[in-house]
This record gives sequence, structure tokens and C-alpha cells, in this order.
Amino acid sequence: MPIRWLSPSPSSPRFPTADWQTACQRVALLNTLGHEEAEQLGQRAWQFLAQKRISFHPDLKEMAFDRPAYLVLAGQACLLTLGWSNFEHTDAFSNVHEIILLPDGFTRQVEEMDEFGVMHEYTDSRAGETSYQGPVVLSFTDLMQSGGFNGYNILIHELAHKLDMGNAVDIDGFPPLPNSITPAEWHGVFSGVWNDLQDRLQRGQPTPIDDYAASHPGECFAVCCEAFFCAPAILADAYPDLYGLLCRYFNQQPLSRFQR
Ligand SMILES: [Zn+2]
Repeated sequence: MPIRWLSPSPSSPRFPTADWQTACQRVALLNTLGHEEAEQLGQRAWQFLAQKRISFHPDLKEMAFDRPAYLVLAGQACLLTLGWSNFEHTDAFSNVHEIILLPDGFTRQVEEMDEFGVMHEYTDSRAGETSYQGPVVLSFTDLMQSGGFNGYNILIHELAHKLDMGNAVDIDGFPPLPNSITPAEWHGVFSGVWNDLQDRLQRGQPTPIDDYAASHPGECFAVCCEAFFCAPAILADAYPDLYGLLCRYFNQQPLSRFQR
């Protein structure tokens, strides 16, 4: 699959203020930021684009991906680490090298061994995927559905996996934690959410967040990150302890943006 790389800033190293303003107006997640937050995020998004490769499937070549569109992408990526220092932000994304956009969802042949040692093969449908030092692969269709307060954000989801893999080669729902959060506290809060999701599914009840969170501890963390930024009111209502923990982990208060 040949992939093209396009640079959003071929010649101008200067921060594109007007393009960033346009980018913020395009998606609610960026448009509800306070002035200072927006300014800091814009600088980081611009830097992100200079450091990371953004590649496109050839079928997307006719698509007009203008500079604000690049900034919308990078802005949502850097939203995750906006509450962290420049060093922490750079360090957290040091395992992000490339973002590849595919036209639509894609499938993978998966082989998995169950607890009895029996190998199962199946076709898995995906909107995104990533690995330890591998690229972040995203469906363009799903990326276009991301950016609002609808609880869904494929970019935040996959980058949450990258944060998770900051201390391990695979996802386990246990990213590197700040000193203010102990592993026991993290485990306790996430176990509470995990158990509630499993209970609800067993009883056939709806879950307050995407039930994909109940499939794996790593997916639980990624889905909770999506909900934290993109459906903060629902998350804070259903799991206030988790919302509070993630406020401290990310050093951000998305509920106040949502209410704006
Ligand atoms: Zn995932």
C-alpha cells in the first residue's frame, strides 16, 4: 500500500495564527478552550506537525487537507497532554512517529490463543490501530466523526494507547503515573469501573460509556480517555471517582469546557 506524505508547512516555520483560529472553529473540542489553553495548544500542535509524519492512503489524494485540517488533527492529539509540561508532553509522545490516514475502516486477520490453549482466527474490523513504536493508523471516516462532545474520538483513543505504552510494549491500562497518583489508587478506581461494566453487561443493561471498554483493561483506559475529553458530563455523572482521577492525571478539567 503506497502511502504519500504531505507537509503542512513546506516553507513557513512561523506559527500560522489565522489557520489555528480556523482550526479551532471547526471542532467543538478546540473551540471551547480558554484563550490561554488555545494559545498553548496551537503552539504545541504546530510543533507536533513539524516533528511527526502525517501520511495518506493514495485514495485520499484528491481530498483537500488544508493547513487548518492538519492543525485540527494535531490539536486534538496534543489536547491529551495539554495540562502537562513541555517536557512531559514531548516525552509522552516520543513513541508517536507517524499518523497514517486510511479512507475508511479496515480489517485485520487476528490469531488469538484462549485460556485452554486453543488458537482462534477471526477477522477484526477496526477504525484505528497502533503499536509500541508503530504508526497510529486511523480511518478518515472515523476521524471526521471525531472532534465533538459525542464521546467518540478515534485519535484520542489511539493516542491514549500510546500513553499506555509509555512503560510497556503492550497496552495494559497502566500508563506512567504522576507522583500524586499511586498505582493502588489507579488500580482501585479503574477496577471499580471495570467491574461495573462487566456487571451491567452480564445483566444485559446499557453501559454509560462505550462497552468496548469492557473488552480489555487497555481498551478501558482508552475509552475512558475518549469519554473524559468528549463526554465529560456523562463520565463525571456515571463514574465521579474516575473523572476526578483523570482530572488529576491529565491536569485538565474538560467539564468546564463542555459547559462553556
Ligand atoms: Zn483501542
